[in-house]
Amino acid sequence: MAKKFDAIIIGTGQSGPALAARMTQEGMKTAIIERKLFGGTCVNVGCTPTKALVASARAAYMARRGSDFGVVVDGSIAVDMKQVKARKDQIVQRSNEGVTNWLKNMENLTVCKGHGRFVGTDSVQVNGETLSAERIILNVGARAFVPAMTGLDNVDYFTNTDMMEVDYLPEHLVIIGGSYVGLEFAQMYRRFGSRVTVIEMGDRLIARDDEDVSAAVKEILETEGVVMRLNAECIAVEKRSNGVAVKVSCDDGPDEVVGSHLLMAVGRRPNTDDLGLDTAGVETDDRGYVVVDDQLASNVPGIWVIGDANGRGAFTHTSYNDYEILVANMFDDDKRRISDRITAYGLFIDPPLGRVGATERQSLESGRKVLIGKMLMERVGRARERSETQGFMKILIDAETKRILGAAILGIGGDEVIHSVLDVMYADAPYTLIQRAVHIHPTVTELIPTMLGDLKPLN
Ligand SMILES: Cc1cc2nc3c(=O)[nH]c(=O)nc-3n(C[C@H](O)[C@H](O)[C@H](O)COP(=O)(O)OP(=O)(O)OC[C@H]3O[C@@H](n4cnc5c(N)ncnc54)[C@H](O)[C@@H]3O)c2cc1C
Repeated sequence: MAKKFDAIIIGTGQSGPALAARMTQEGMKTAIIERKLFGGTCVNVGCTPTKALVASARAAYMARRGSDFGVVVDGSIAVDMKQVKARKDQIVQRSNEGVTNWLKNMENLTVCKGHGRFVGTDSVQVNGETLSAERIILNVGARAFVPAMTGLDNVDYFTNTDMMEVDYLPEHLVIIGGSYVGLEFAQMYRRFGSRVTVIEMGDRLIARDDEDVSAAVKEILETEGVVMRLNAECIAVEKRSNGVAVKVSCDDGPDEVVGSHLLMAVGRRPNTDDLGLDTAGVETDDRGYVVVDDQLASNVPGIWVIGDANGRGAFTHTSYNDYEILVANMFDDDKRRISDRITAYGLFIDPPLGRVGATERQSLESGRKVLIGKMLMERVGRARERSETQGFMKILIDAETKRILGAAILGIGGDEVIHSVLDVMYADAPYTLIQRAVHIHPTVTELIPTMLGDLKPLN
């Protein structure tokens, strides 16, 4: 006999717990299933720990730069990796406990610890028990994608999850993958004191961004001593007595990087392969993401997917926004849609990149007449005062409607400053609104109006 619920949520990522709270408040008898850690990727092995580690790495970097600011450090600067990890663990533990206690104390909620799998369109099995409900919502997230690669079965490697257990300094960390996850680890371990090499198959880093952004990010990391090997089309790995060798060229010959440790950071794959989706008849795309409509419904009535597993976002804020859209439609008669969301994300190297909306290529492909404003961080007083002048900011404008199409801010505070642009995009206001605003001096944001006063056609 199946245990009956009004709703079942599989996965406790960034949106499942909030959804459970709302459903139970609405008087729905709800079950939530988690096979591993409450809070999912972001809290346990993603955003929270990596940003805690980035903060330790920045402290080490600034300590080494003390003399640039007239600060005398009398003695050598060392990084205690055990303490770095302990600090990170403490921050993670607090967040994890927060979600765990929230769920365990939620009235009207049954928490099941185990792997959930469909056994019918309205029923799920967990720990040998069958639960059924008219509404089933998946918040199962994603995990590191590890591609088939010559030699990989014979070597030890980390994914972002295993990296969380590292409490020592790898002598030479080789990272396969020059995108968001890989680059944050690259700079962080370089700052801790490792040698770091990033191996990327493409001809540039973070390929979804514009060329000038990729080039500036590369320069920032190379200036700190991270070695980049781009165009590594034929990657193969081999065990060596002192670690692992990564072949980086298609040509015969010894073009290889030998490192003490290897991190695979080539992307993510959705946790949908062992969910029994076939049994329920739920449609996925060729990469395993569940196909959803603009309001997060799958092709099977009564089954919705929120978070990374629907392929419509790959961030904590997009997962949480999925929850907001779902409950707006389900309970509030508010027809919110995914397509109302404006692309926004950060790359949390130091200085960080904040990105919103379209890239240059996407703006031009849209067929619009586009204006561009660009300013080097060297021109920003705040950046000069802090001796952190790397990077630039740029903004793209629709010449006819005067609406902002997109922006990138790579530089100090870029991840925060970008929100002044994003909010005007959400307000659907013309760029002249920011141009005429009086911003506080001396900040990075105060130069956005200046940049908007010097727009040029983008060809
Ligand atoms: C290293 C790293 C750094 C990141 N940094 C950032 C960042 O700075 N900012 C940002 O916005 N995003 C970041 N992300 C992405 C972010 O972590 C995810 O987008 C976010 O966690 C949303 O995921 P989710 O809600 O879809 O599910 P997840 O957080 O992935 O959680 C899914 C949960 O479902 C559980 N589960 C899966 N299948 C089953 C099953 N069959 N039965 C039971 N339970 C199941 C899993 O155990 C997991 O707990 C980062 C990711 C990584 C890997």
